[in-house]
Amino acid sequence: MHIVDLITKKRDGKTLTKEEISFIIKNYTEGKIPDYQMSAFLMATYFNQMTDEESTYLALAMRDSGDVIDLSIIKGIKVDKHSTGGVGDKVTLILGPLLASLGVKFAKMSGRGLGHTGGTIDKLESIPGYQVELQVEDFIKQVEEIGIAIVGQSGDVAPADKKLYALRDVTATVDVIPLIASSIMSKKLASGADAIVLDVKVGHGAFMKTEEEAIKLATLMVEIGRLAGKKMTAILTGMDEPLGHKIGNGLEVYEAIETLHGRGPKDLVEVTVEIGAHLLLDAKIESDFEVAKKRLHQALNDESAFNKMVELISAQGGNMDVLYHPESLLSDEVVSVLAENEGYITDINALDIGKAAMRLGAGRETKEDSILMDVGLDLHKKIGDHVKKDDVIATLYVRDKGIEEAKQLVKDALTIGKVRKEVLLIKNTIK
Ligand code: URA
Repeated sequence: MHIVDLITKKRDGKTLTKEEISFIIKNYTEGKIPDYQMSAFLMATYFNQMTDEESTYLALAMRDSGDVIDLSIIKGIKVDKHSTGGVGDKVTLILGPLLASLGVKFAKMSGRGLGHTGGTIDKLESIPGYQVELQVEDFIKQVEEIGIAIVGQSGDVAPADKKLYALRDVTATVDVIPLIASSIMSKKLASGADAIVLDVKVGHGAFMKTEEEAIKLATLMVEIGRLAGKKMTAILTGMDEPLGHKIGNGLEVYEAIETLHGRGPKDLVEVTVEIGAHLLLDAKIESDFEVAKKRLHQALNDESAFNKMVELISAQGGNMDVLYHPESLLSDEVVSVLAENEGYITDINALDIGKAAMRLGAGRETKEDSILMDVGLDLHKKIGDHVKKDDVIATLYVRDKGIEEAKQLVKDALTIGKVRKEVLLIKNTIK
């Protein structure tokens, strides 16, 4: 096989076989195909796309380029979820303990974040002492004993994707749906779960700006997962405004703890319960979707989900005081942002809110940046709320970084109008 023939084949709109795609990925990862030929292949894919089968072969080849976690030793159906990324998305922190409290096995390897705030692992690290690294045997033992473990990605998961993503970034080939779907799925398929729910965000704060694009991406990821033998569901949820009220690492842990006590914001609870209900059905713990949702609400309201969080943090060495005094996670230096007009909030640009958190130090722009755990913002108003001039619309938790810029970003992110508007949060389900 010769790479130039395979580039020609893709350039001419033909379909590649499993062996051909494996050849490309294997040889590229090993450095035998140079970046200039891979770039040509990526651009040919941009113009001619890929079939579902080609995308699946690509995801599998990238999965097999690195470590694949084997969770088969853990009894029962293991579940996982993935979000394509949104501002204020702390669903994993709530969903994990919530599902585990109902008997689901939640063995989660999570990433760090590049962007507005850290990823799940960074957020958990705001709890002093929390161990994000466990040996695989200890990880499995913990899931068997308490039903849940959340750790950082260990080993080398999908190195082919890392190399390819870096090349896509500089060759204008990131936004190609088959490449995005196989990139995300290569990492999900390496995670060892039997059932996966994907939360595909749509809106101006998300990677996918329109519902049409999001449906295409979700449908393809579901198909890839299914062809690879997983039970798959994707839900499309709105990212027209941040999820919940709090954005920032410690702030999001705080909001997760509140939610685990049954005091969570409506939108955050709605998305968590929707994903949870699909996974309760997939794990065969419940057979009726509406009953599943009721059981999840109940576990949030009767402290069972919070008690499971206590077990998780204790098992992974975190400081337990934080669970009972989550306000200790927030900087005590605060700045208020006031409304400039009266009216209804009709739009909150989630991306700008994310940028505000980042300017305060909550997120990293490059992998090497360090992040501040106790900064961020608490958005008191959401779309549909009424505000009067000079009402506090947000509280910034700050240190000595980016305060004026963040204040301006928050002010500019909000649109205040005369007519009340509602947003639909769960827009579609793809099974
Ligand atoms: N996230 C990924 O992991 N891969 C992509 O290609 C895009 C977003």
